Amino acid sequence: MTRWFPDGIPQPMADPEAVPWWEAAAGHRLVVQRCTACAHTRLPPAPICPACRSDGADWQEVSGRGSLYTYTVVHRPIARDQEVPFVVAVVALEGAGGVRLVTNLVETPLDALEIGLPVEVAWEDMSDLLAIPRFRPARDPSTATHEPRKGSGRND
Ligand SMILES: [Zn+2]
Repeated sequence: MTRWFPDGIPQPMADPEAVPWWEAAAGHRLVVQRCTACAHTRLPPAPICPACRSDGADWQEVSGRGSLYTYTVVHRPIARDQEVPFVVAVVALEGAGGVRLVTNLVETPLDALEIGLPVEVAWEDMSDLLAIPRFRPARDPSTATHEPRKGSGRND
């Protein structure tokens, strides 16, 4: 079991809408919420679809691959014994209908950071009940695909 962040890091607070998401995460399954009326995907979870206002929803498992949408490098620790710098990233999830996830990049040299970098999920078990999806460079980038995004300006 690999750990990248110390136990003292502030832990996420799950609201009722997000409990199924965290339960899936505990089993190392990355899911997005999907509207059962119009198939719009959303994350973070919400009680109402922003596209059609339906309150019907289920959970769609995604591949765990994606690409680096944007990032920032943080040089101040937020917990005791935390290694710095660390990377806060937004990952565009493959096969998730355009959903992006705010996360951390791990195992990534700073000079390898590049928008569009193919990444894959790397689960960090913080406890028996809490697993957090971090991301690292895809081990086999040839298997990563990029979903074209309108207006993003670059898709490679
Ligand atoms: Zn909908």
